Amino acid sequence: METKIIDGRVLSDQLRKSIKQKVCELRQNNIMPGLTVILVGDDPASQIYVRNKKRACEQVGINSNVIRLDNNITEYELLGKIHDLNEDPSVHGILVQLPLPSHISSERIINTIDPSKDVDGFHPVNAGKLLAGQPYLAPCTPRGIIKLIESTGEDISGKHAVVIGRSNIVGKPVSIMLLQKNATVTICHSKTIELDKIARQGDILVVAMGRPQSITDKYIKTGAIVIDVGTSRVNGKLLGDVVFQAAKGKAGWITPVPGGVGPMTITMLLENTILAAQSSSVL
Ligand code: NAP
Repeated sequence: METKIIDGRVLSDQLRKSIKQKVCELRQNNIMPGLTVILVGDDPASQIYVRNKKRACEQVGINSNVIRLDNNITEYELLGKIHDLNEDPSVHGILVQLPLPSHISSERIINTIDPSKDVDGFHPVNAGKLLAGQPYLAPCTPRGIIKLIESTGEDISGKHAVVIGRSNIVGKPVSIMLLQKNATVTICHSKTIELDKIARQGDILVVAMGRPQSITDKYIKTGAIVIDVGTSRVNGKLLGDVVFQAAKGKAGWITPVPGGVGPMTITMLLENTILAAQSSSVL
């Protein structure tokens, strides 16, 4: 069968036009939306992610500031920085680029960010709101995945969605979002037995394992919408979890890597920053 490509770059470009418009409206009301990213250490992949986020902010007119901190910074000092940003009214969004060095607890850092500035949507308050069906700042990658699926024009309601992965940043929240869109959801993980059999039942298959090139056509139902979240750098090349060439011809729709979920994650970060800036004006 013919497999259609879900192009995350094209969808992102469309959405960023309307984000730019919202930024103009905020600026006309003297609200200058601002995102501050904290980058600890010199991990090359994190540096690329942070650079891409900064560039995307500039593209739509969001003020962005990157605070670069030495790898040896103490947790206490980092917590102090976050407290300062929580109190700064010109900062609407705070993002701490993960992973952090092993001597710092990511959980403690995330839990210290003011939930109303938590544009990554990782704070337990925002996770709880999502679970309760009152999403405010919801995690970016899952939000992007839902938009990618909706861009196919297919109705999520009533479909069987199989999600491989149960992390707090992708698998669990996207499963909740799919449930709220009335999909019947199955969540798989590393202890799942007969993964291929279960995955093959999915009208929608979201793969977020971080195991490069492990999902072949035998995991895919004919005509399924396949969202490949995985990004692993192997020998300098960015690889998804799905074997794209094997999935082509079997899936109805598929996201490429790169150019699928990645651009949408950043676009949803921009949207969350706008949302946080809009809310700050009514607080
Ligand atoms: P993670 O925290 O490592 O979680 C991976 C999940 O996959 C876990 O729930 C794990 O199960 C499950 N898993 C691992 N091996 C499996 C197997 N053989 N069979 C079934 N399930 C298996 O990873 P993550 O943060 O969710 O990220 C997943 C991937 O998405 C990574 O490649 C990451 O780089 C990528 N990602 C991309 C974006 C983007 O914007 N493009 C954003 C976020 C993440 P257990 O829970 O049992 O261990």
